Amino acid sequence: MGEIGMPRLTDRRSLLIGIAGLAAAALSGCMTSSDAAPAAEPFTPASAAPVDQAIPAPSRTVAADTPTEQPPRPVPPTKQQIIAEFGARKPQEWGLQVRGVVNKSAAGHIALTFDACGGPGGAGCDQQLLSTLRKLNVPATLFVNERWIQTNPALTAELAHDPLFELANHGFLHRPLSVNGKSAYGIGGTADLGQVYDEVMGNQRVLQEITGHLPGFFRPGTAYYDEIAAAVTRRLGLLPVNFTINGDAGATFPPSTVAAEVGKSRGGDIVIAHFNKPGSGTAGGFAQALPRLLSQGATFAKLGAVLPL
Ligand SMILES: [Zn+2]
Repeated sequence: MGEIGMPRLTDRRSLLIGIAGLAAAALSGCMTSSDAAPAAEPFTPASAAPVDQAIPAPSRTVAADTPTEQPPRPVPPTKQQIIAEFGARKPQEWGLQVRGVVNKSAAGHIALTFDACGGPGGAGCDQQLLSTLRKLNVPATLFVNERWIQTNPALTAELAHDPLFELANHGFLHRPLSVNGKSAYGIGGTADLGQVYDEVMGNQRVLQEITGHLPGFFRPGTAYYDEIAAAVTRRLGLLPVNFTINGDAGATFPPSTVAAEVGKSRGGDIVIAHFNKPGSGTAGGFAQALPRLLSQGATFAKLGAVLPL
């Protein structure tokens, strides 16, 4: 699509290196508390939620059985059309939970989501965590940033073809999604509608080229949006998604805290954590929490199985 003025992937690598070099000066990688809201997130569910609340019976592998074929989607608007359609709108909200962003599902399943942010210090892959998910047959949605994909193209393709997982879009330059340059955790957001378009569609194109599939879900770097940027994301054919449970605070929690936070999950919750920080407490925390949740009857699903597209 020429509207964002980018050559095909093979020609884009040198361009991407240039972009990454520029970005590195402004971004501190995945930021140690990236995507990461402080531990005391306002929407952590009440700890008094009953353990034995009614949870439907389907197999915990429900999402792994979901067909991967995609129905045809409408052609998204061009950048110029987005600017014409949204240019007069002024945002009123800025944060993790704004109008248009989905934070939980109506399903009885827990949806685990793991981000891979890329950039300095954030380009690894937590194989121990993925191994735990595979061993327990617990599905998950993986939000991958374009910088992480460029470091891990073969792994991206491998994960895309693993039926236990579903890939989602974590942005092109890992920037908060703003129509007017707001920032979060010291990371400058997209400056205007054109950059919002590039942040979403730039990585959409990379993912389609590597995996053959267009993701249906988006979460920006730092998980911050304004409500106009969230509306643009929807207009481009993706559902903007955040979370109810902050599982690892940007892979900074020790295992016991990860286990305690993830252990609060109930049906309908969307859990955020990270799979790009091997050696963090995330894998150990999930290895503790998931068997407990399963023994309590919890079921898990990918976002594609619990949210409408
Ligand atoms: Zn991130």
